Amino acid sequence: MASLPQAARVVVIGGGIIGCSTAYHLTRLGWKDVLVLEKGRLTSGSTFHAAGLVGQLRSSANITQLLKYSVELYDKLEEETGQATGWKQNGGLRLACNEERMTEIKRQATTAHSFGLEMHLLTPSEAKDLWPLMDVSDLVGAAFLPTDGQANPSDITLALAKGARMEGATIVEECEVTGFEMTNGRVTGVQTGSGNVSCEIVVNCAGQWARRIGEMAGISVPLVSVEHQYMVTEAIEGVARDMPTLRDPDRLIYFKEEVGGLVMGGYEPNPKPWAVDGIPQGFNFTLLESDFDHFEQLMEQALVRVPALAEAGVKELINGPESFTPDGSFILGEAPERQGFYVGAGFNAFGIASGGGAGKALAEWIAGGEPPMDLWPVDIRRFGRPHQSTDWVRTRTLELYGKHYTMSWPFEEHESGRPERVSPLYGALKDSGACFGEKLGWERPNWFATNGQAPRDVYSYGRQNWFEAVGQEHQAVREKAALFDQSSFAKFLMVGPDAAAALSWICANDVEKPVGSIVYTQMLNSRGGIECDLTVVRVAEDQFYIVTGTGFATHDFAHIERTIPEGLQATLIDVTSGHATLSLMGPLARDVLSAVTDADLSNEAFPFATAQTISIGGAPVRALRITYVGELGWELHIPTEYALSVYTKLWKAGEPLGLANAGYRAIESLRLEKGYRAWGSDINPDHTPFEAGLGWAVKLRKNIPFLGREALAEQAGSPLKKRFACFTIDDPDVILLGRETLYRDGERVGWLSSAGWGYTVAKNIGYGYVRCADGVDDDFLYGGGYELEVATERVACSIERKALYDPAMARIKV
Ligand SMILES: Cc1cc2nc3c(=O)[nH]c(=O)nc-3n(C[C@H](O)[C@H](O)[C@H](O)COP(=O)(O)OP(=O)(O)OC[C@H]3O[C@@H](n4cnc5c(N)ncnc54)[C@H](O)[C@@H]3O)c2cc1C
Repeated sequence: MASLPQAARVVVIGGGIIGCSTAYHLTRLGWKDVLVLEKGRLTSGSTFHAAGLVGQLRSSANITQLLKYSVELYDKLEEETGQATGWKQNGGLRLACNEERMTEIKRQATTAHSFGLEMHLLTPSEAKDLWPLMDVSDLVGAAFLPTDGQANPSDITLALAKGARMEGATIVEECEVTGFEMTNGRVTGVQTGSGNVSCEIVVNCAGQWARRIGEMAGISVPLVSVEHQYMVTEAIEGVARDMPTLRDPDRLIYFKEEVGGLVMGGYEPNPKPWAVDGIPQGFNFTLLESDFDHFEQLMEQALVRVPALAEAGVKELINGPESFTPDGSFILGEAPERQGFYVGAGFNAFGIASGGGAGKALAEWIAGGEPPMDLWPVDIRRFGRPHQSTDWVRTRTLELYGKHYTMSWPFEEHESGRPERVSPLYGALKDSGACFGEKLGWERPNWFATNGQAPRDVYSYGRQNWFEAVGQEHQAVREKAALFDQSSFAKFLMVGPDAAAALSWICANDVEKPVGSIVYTQMLNSRGGIECDLTVVRVAEDQFYIVTGTGFATHDFAHIERTIPEGLQATLIDVTSGHATLSLMGPLARDVLSAVTDADLSNEAFPFATAQTISIGGAPVRALRITYVGELGWELHIPTEYALSVYTKLWKAGEPLGLANAGYRAIESLRLEKGYRAWGSDINPDHTPFEAGLGWAVKLRKNIPFLGREALAEQAGSPLKKRFACFTIDDPDVILLGRETLYRDGERVGWLSSAGWGYTVAKNIGYGYVRCADGVDDDFLYGGGYELEVATERVACSIERKALYDPAMARIKV
């Protein structure tokens, strides 16, 4: 066994599949001074008892690409390392037992096609041909992914470890990390029972122990352990070695072939949390006691699907704990709390499938110092305050575990751990019929129920029950005025003598404007990709107020703080809790606001893109004249304790004029009509402002340096390989949800990044990038005939040259 060195450039904690894959990929990037520390033996955490199914389909293009990469890697790893992996590309079957599930599968197939993943729809009898032991009498259909497969988890991990060693990594087993050495807030070494190792970078790949390891370094890693069981049978007649893996989500179960028998597991709706008081010492190569009673609910379902199981001998019922997260996605990236400390954990029972790709992405993130591509769905910075409470995390995680195979409905909201964070208007809005959604723990009105309707979502793949109500809110914004409670917006103050210089470097747009100016800007990475998309208000010479989306609070704060150039005196402070935000939007916004303030709101005195502090009944309100819905309006940032009284005054003044409450679903439809981009879907680190059609918000022509400038300058001289565009379909029976595949003259050129219904223009609206390796100029973009694949059906669509809505045309067709 290797002895413990005194120093290493990178220390990876954990010798499961993720730690070994990260080390493997670091060495492939030329980082040879890598040390993996494992407290037990390699694979002895969750990895050794995984079932080994390797599926690839996820709802994000990049995460699907990561899983596709795992498959490519597993395909060649044995040859490369000489270590057997048990990899077999036998394909994956996914069943549908009802029409809604079939629609979901069709939409998944469309998503797969968008991302270049093969997925075929099958009839029940075609599915049976692939899996003859199945009873298919209740099937509506199925889908087959020929490139899915299965592997031996321990062997794959040992092959990755061997590959890492072959390129210079050191692996030390039976060496437990017990603490960290810190200098100036950065981890500079790890402490172990066998001595200390100094290092530049730490990577926490400690599986279900990762939360505890994080705590030792002051870092929140929101995951908890949950029991997960699968049964292994003796050989069953008719089980063929090349049978695909099988997922039967309506029955909550999965299967794979193993030595002539079957492995069968599933996701019960009443999962059992494990190690609530901490993981026992020495828990390596250890399983939990089999719980046949708890497994019975899955067994009953499995017997219906595979009647031969009734006669099969049961070899064992494996019960292994695994780490699960509150949103079902894994956790990757540099911790926002501490530079140089990375996390790769929380793999929600698909760590074998993700291992190759997640390790590669993490290694590239470490080597490059920034995410190598858009990894937002798994980025550690998607979490925030609620995730610091392990009880909250456990509650939500158990809900998500139980939903692992249930339908993932469009617009689905989760129920547990609510309400957690509420605005001062929560009670008033609830009394007014608000149906709330939740984001980063905040309750936010999605829509308002009127006329006796219950404020509750009823999910379907058709138009949902809130469709008409949202249409009315939309109409109020276009024709009169509406109030949106956006108190959950993240708000920061950048202060200090160098605040302007710092932001000037971080922002792509010119923010060094006079006090009172509002600048909409992107913040870029070194590749020119869009890391943040937000509003910057200069409130004093040395003070900027920054407003960004609720879900981006941790991400944007960390990005800004990390990119303040060294030596500048500028401090970033989170002031979210201090200000409630009410957005008053619509053609009558000025009339409503003038009724409650003496401030001059005329266009001359209060022009667009400016901010002033105005008084509303004695409350000092920071009013920002901007809009995300394409109407006249003000975002009112109100000291929290005044929020309710300001709301009440506005409501009293506005009600006679037709003022309405409106929610986030109306905002979405309004912004789609106006063409405003949404970060996380339409724009992200993979897209530059030029590609996104936001070049007008970049100060490239001014001689001011900023992060990402060089990449943009280079791009400005060459044809763009992708361009953001708007597509419409008039037929109201077509439902666009985003991720529909885009075809130009019959060739696949991209997919929709966001989509929905525009009530004013009475069209389905979708946005997406048109891609072409030879460049996308105007002739290419507007010269083609376009179609969208919607749930596997091709539908003709139109490409639009400009934003669909212009405030002059307030004509509503609900
Ligand atoms: C029953 C079951 C079935 C599963 N089936 C599948 C499947 O079919 N397909 C699939 O893709 N996934 C499956 N999984 C999930 C898969 O097993 C995990 O996602 C994966 O193994 C996680 O790997 P990891 O490297 O993150 O964690 P682990 O394998 O747990 O590795 C973490 C390592 O860190 C070490 N460690 C912890 N603390 C310290 C410390 N202080 N110092 C040093 N070392 C430390 C631990 O000893 C451990 O070895 C299944 C899981 C279970 C429980």
